[in-house]
Amino acid sequence: MFTDITIDDFQQQIIDQGHEVEAWARRCFPGGVLVESKREQAVIDTQAFLEAGEKIIFQATFQTNGGYAMIDVLHWEDNLGGWVISEVKGTTSKDVKKSEHVDDAAFQRWVMQQAGYEVKQVNLLELDKEFRKDGDINPQLLIKFTDITAEIDARQSDLEIQIQSAKDLLAKTEEPRVCECVYKSRSNQCPCFSYCHPEVPDYSVHDICRIGLSKKKLREMVDNDWLEITDIPLEFKLSPNQTNHVHTTITGDPIIRSGKIQQALETIEYPIYFLDYETWPTAVPAFEGCYPFQQVPFQYSLHVLREPGGELEHTEFLHTENSSPMPHLVKQLRAEIGDTGSVIVWNKKFEGKCHEDLAEAFPEMAEFLHGLNNRFFDLMEIFSKQYYVHPDFRGSSSIKYALPVICPELSYADLNVQNGGAACKTWKQMIFDTEDTTKAAQMADDLRAYCKLDTLAMVRIWEALLQI
Ligand code: SF4
Repeated sequence: MFTDITIDDFQQQIIDQGHEVEAWARRCFPGGVLVESKREQAVIDTQAFLEAGEKIIFQATFQTNGGYAMIDVLHWEDNLGGWVISEVKGTTSKDVKKSEHVDDAAFQRWVMQQAGYEVKQVNLLELDKEFRKDGDINPQLLIKFTDITAEIDARQSDLEIQIQSAKDLLAKTEEPRVCECVYKSRSNQCPCFSYCHPEVPDYSVHDICRIGLSKKKLREMVDNDWLEITDIPLEFKLSPNQTNHVHTTITGDPIIRSGKIQQALETIEYPIYFLDYETWPTAVPAFEGCYPFQQVPFQYSLHVLREPGGELEHTEFLHTENSSPMPHLVKQLRAEIGDTGSVIVWNKKFEGKCHEDLAEAFPEMAEFLHGLNNRFFDLMEIFSKQYYVHPDFRGSSSIKYALPVICPELSYADLNVQNGGAACKTWKQMIFDTEDTTKAAQMADDLRAYCKLDTLAMVRIWEALLQI
């Protein structure tokens, strides 16, 4: 039985990036032919290409002995005297998902071998994190080839066990109701988790803060059928942070460490700059000097309070041209942020990385940009360090959870853009896909409204915290 799964903006972005990387990887193999059909027809078309003597086939498809595999790039290597499989992944050569990639490629080799072909080598093709765009992109420099044949050989026996258990599963007439996903924290579950596990509530023990780091504890809770956080016995041992989260959920009472909050807030110096960026991460760099998946800031909102009791000022930047936003953004930022005072952000890691990238691109601005990082006050830490825990935060330190509790009068609900994924998608559409100027102007307004609320929310949360 199939069920609809909603793909959100973030997931769609990952899918699109995968297609883009695959297109670039194919450019490393000029003269290749593409199997455009699907399912059984793809197997037939692949055979036709092989019989016609084709030496480079994209999406070569084989089906045999219960296995069905589509190979991103299959090519004949004269030096090796045999076929080479290349598995393309929309990741970078510094990511740590390699074991999953190796398993995927190992399965493809197994199917091809079962179909009677000898595979001499298997490569993993990823984006090279060291790549920097400098004029026209050379696919040979963008894509990094890694020979993973030896790793696949080492996993051969495990692979055969996995294939057998997958076949056993597929032979069952009942849908499986037992899977390891139920022992994973929320962020690590499959997108179809709620379909496979209707017994697990939308907000459950899987949402306890940092529960992914306490695998044994989560397993114990699930095995005991404690799925609601309120099912957990008070004496059950969890980390201090997790205990705080569970305690507030069970009692409904917030934990507020006002001394800690005030001590932290006292370090903030005037003038105070509340800063927030919206970014566009492209798998393949779109602008000069950028690397794969660099978060390119295209917008910021800045609220400024120059002195205690002073008037709140607002300024903003939004790039509306089809060109790199970075030189324009950094220039305006330099003009609008002075050399003293605190820079308040929500998640300094993110904004800090934007500044590091900008400093690399504009060395003449490096001192200013690194200085901003040194002047950061991360408002999120009030929540991530649990100086303030509220049951409605649901274990999260996101501003989207803090705002409705602390400043219910401010809300994202009425905005056309309500989160960073939607902002990124809207900007991309505005710049690259929209010719209608009225529509583009509306999109620009929607983006400005969203980013402005992000910094205004910080201002109001900071003000509320001062009163605690
Ligand atoms: S939740 Fe994921 S792993 Fe578990 S049965 Fe569903 S699809 Fe499979």
